[in-house]
Amino acid sequence: MDFLKEAKAIEPEIIKTRREIHSHPELAYHEEATAKLVADRLKAMGIEVKTKVGGTGVLGTLKGKGKGKVVALRADMDALPLDEMAEVEFKSNVNGDMPACRHDTHVAMLLGTAKLLANHKDELQGTVKFLFQPAEEHGGRGGAKPMIEDGVMKNPKVDYVFGLHIDGDEESGVLAYRGGPIMAAPDTFKIRIKGKGGHGSAPHQTIDPVYVAAQIIIAVQGVSGRMIDPVQPFVITIGAVHSGTKENIIPDEAVLDGTIRTMDETTRERAKEKVAEVAKGVSKAFGATAEVEFEHDAYPVTVNDEKVTEEAAELFKKLPGANVKVRSQLLGGEDFSRFLLEAPGSFYFLGTKNASKGCVYPNHSSKFLVDENVLPLGTASLALLAWEFTKNQT
Ligand SMILES: [Zn+2]
Ligand SMILES: [Zn+2]
Repeated sequence: MDFLKEAKAIEPEIIKTRREIHSHPELAYHEEATAKLVADRLKAMGIEVKTKVGGTGVLGTLKGKGKGKVVALRADMDALPLDEMAEVEFKSNVNGDMPACRHDTHVAMLLGTAKLLANHKDELQGTVKFLFQPAEEHGGRGGAKPMIEDGVMKNPKVDYVFGLHIDGDEESGVLAYRGGPIMAAPDTFKIRIKGKGGHGSAPHQTIDPVYVAAQIIIAVQGVSGRMIDPVQPFVITIGAVHSGTKENIIPDEAVLDGTIRTMDETTRERAKEKVAEVAKGVSKAFGATAEVEFEHDAYPVTVNDEKVTEEAAELFKKLPGANVKVRSQLLGGEDFSRFLLEAPGSFYFLGTKNASKGCVYPNHSSKFLVDENVLPLGTASLALLAWEFTKNQT
């Protein structure tokens, strides 16, 4: 089976689909048009379709002739709230929204994969489930969780699950894999500092929450430098600061929004505890109080099954021209992690960095450009995984 050759034959169609979705981006939980496009295309391929799965999600099920394993392949569908700055003819036509994590390519590639596999339905040894997921960028409940609650991993029970992400850090043609933890638990938090407002000329009569907020922003970096095992990957970022209305008014309150990223549960729990302690301690020192609240439904660490990942990497090496390599860990979060808690599998990356085409910006950049000629490789890799893992006897 030469899936790469077959994927290259439908390359114009994959690119067209990707551009179509790209110019109509939809934010988390609002992927209605994308879901409709997906459902229509799957139906046209003769694939059994269930819509409104976990919200706007779509489940496609392709049953082969054999009684082999059940393999699930996942693509996320949502865009990000960001004005597109890249000059492309299929530029996002919705101001303020663009698929800057390139989930448009994920949908286009998985539809391509569905087509390749549907064309070989009679030789397929097991069942393939196509999971088109909403709201990956949401960060809390996300889209994987509601789909799992809606039963996508059962009836028939999924034996293996795979997900692919386009990757602006890796060169075009790279398929990057890694066994074990590959992406972080992205915990978000809010620190609400309560002081006492007053006149800017008389700070001694007030408790200045802006000053306390500034101290906390500096102090929490000490969690990383002084309180976490230095061999553990860890980062803390305060990304938003809210307070005040005018230069001569000391406000009553300041609010900080931040995130911590960890790769294991022990570090995760310790970091959360220490951030809260530092924020409260610093506030107390200056007479203020701090309430610290963590998102209760944050994504877990994405942990790839070691054995399945090694098997997948060996398969990738069979794809002509693919540059198969081990990826370094990254501290972004992914709710694909939740599928991996239900079945062994692997989340891997497709490089799209290509300086000669100007594809040099990272994911989540308003200028992110994709080297679209890598899409057939991604499509073929997913098809190959489904093909071989449905045959798996172990
Ligand atoms: Zn993404
Ligand atoms: Zn993203």
